[in-house]
Amino acid sequence: MLHAHGRAKVHRVVRGPWPARIKPLENETLSSWLVRASLANFSSPSTVVNYIWPGWRAWTRDIDRELTPDQLKALQQVSSLSESEIDSMLLKPVIMRVNQDTKLNRTNTWPWVIQRSTRNKNTIRSTQFCPLCLMEDVKPYLRRQWRISFITICTKHRINLHDSCPHCGASVEVHKLTRGKLKQCAHCRWDMSDIKPASANNELASVTGMLEKQAFSEQDYSPTHFQRLRYLISLVRRLSAKQSIPQSAATLFQCNEERFYAFADFSSLAFDWLTTDDRRSLLETVAPLMSMGTAQFALSLLESDIPLSLLNNCADTIPEELQQYLPEKRCFDARARNETQNPVKKLPSRRAIERRWQAFLVKHGID
Ligand SMILES: [Zn+2]
Ligand SMILES: [Zn+2]
Repeated sequence: MLHAHGRAKVHRVVRGPWPARIKPLENETLSSWLVRASLANFSSPSTVVNYIWPGWRAWTRDIDRELTPDQLKALQQVSSLSESEIDSMLLKPVIMRVNQDTKLNRTNTWPWVIQRSTRNKNTIRSTQFCPLCLMEDVKPYLRRQWRISFITICTKHRINLHDSCPHCGASVEVHKLTRGKLKQCAHCRWDMSDIKPASANNELASVTGMLEKQAFSEQDYSPTHFQRLRYLISLVRRLSAKQSIPQSAATLFQCNEERFYAFADFSSLAFDWLTTDDRRSLLETVAPLMSMGTAQFALSLLESDIPLSLLNNCADTIPEELQQYLPEKRCFDARARNETQNPVKKLPSRRAIERRWQAFLVKHGID
């Protein structure tokens, strides 16, 4: 039951502030704060959102992204929070910063936001968490960083993030909690901080630290890093779909054949839809190239055996920093020097083997 001037059901009455007023914690998401505020007011998250936004099925939406002016006003009325306090819980300011040339549309997906898809009120792996942050928190809460797809490790503890309950495997759905703390699994009530932490890859830890700083602090922003990251992820994924992977590309990415081959298993999903483990695996592969200067980065690509057509077409846009290095003639010259290297043979995918087997059966009338 909601105790907000005792008139929760009649939403036209003047809605005053809640008895228990809680302030957002550093980089807390709106959903995390709403759940904490609900529990502090002895109410459930679903009752509270019905009260603030009658008729809007807020928990089936990604409320961490943004609010409309009306939704913002309604929240201000009950929460006594300022507009900027609410803004600091949303992903919009962060995503606008890292995608400066992209228009963010309410109905579309947003680049670099882990996609939140719901089916029958179940949310699929949309938030990650650091077990040590949750363990050390006096008031456990979810961070905005944990909703960002290029962040797969905790830069404070340098350990891997998780996106499901270690006990029952369910996604983190704090809006289903009706009591307790946010570090508890809403499905089995297990303390999610109770996992053996896994150390983060060193190179990825420094790259993530740099990207996180770019996205979340007010100074020193440059779109270069995010353009390069998007490009490299596309390049690696396109390489993994090829019949053979050039040896020099495998060396450049410090990635063996088996690992490249594994990327093909989730090739149908966009990066922002992948699980934390799959995204981290891709990010670890591109990390060595993220810390290079522009010239070294461009020349490493050009001197590898990666086909020029792939370098030019693997992504929707070529990073600005690469544009001057990718005139075709120069690339062809670079390729000619490397012609003698032998490519690594890629194993056929399981699906390809199944297709061949089916064809064999049909051909011999065994179907
Ligand atoms: Zn942490
Ligand atoms: Zn669980």
